[in-house]
Amino acid sequence: MAYDSNNIFAKILRGEIPCKKVYEDDFALAFHDINPQAPTHILVVPKGPYVNYDDFVTSAETEELAGFARAIGKTIAEAGVAQGGYRLISNSGVDAHQEVPHYHIHILGGRDLGAMLEKAEA
Ligand code: 5GP
Repeated sequence: MAYDSNNIFAKILRGEIPCKKVYEDDFALAFHDINPQAPTHILVVPKGPYVNYDDFVTSAETEELAGFARAIGKTIAEAGVAQGGYRLISNSGVDAHQEVPHYHIHILGGRDLGAMLEKAEA
């Protein structure tokens, strides 16, 4: 899938659409999800143009990979969810219901998050 530079997170990264920023550095921007699924629901997006996880790990420079991983850790610390616990999610493609085609990590926390997935249908 080719990267679409008009996706909503690309517009947020360019400052064309506002966001509630939590953390930013050279590699990533973290901001609150507009439709939170938990008391803490933050999105961390790399600054480079990657569609999903496999695009990112295949195409990004090692420095970007490390920088993005560290930015997620710094966002977790900033959000204050490390002690209570948190969940990281990255949706990719149709089966995972990915809405925005710019790679991102969801950080969810602030309550008991329940089971990882609904029980599978037989
Ligand atoms: P996905 O399904 O792609 O993993 O998740 C995309 C997330 O982006 C959703 O949780 C959705 O609520 C969030 N989102 C969509 N548009 C916007 C927006 O304009 N601003 C913010 N802050 N979040 C958005």
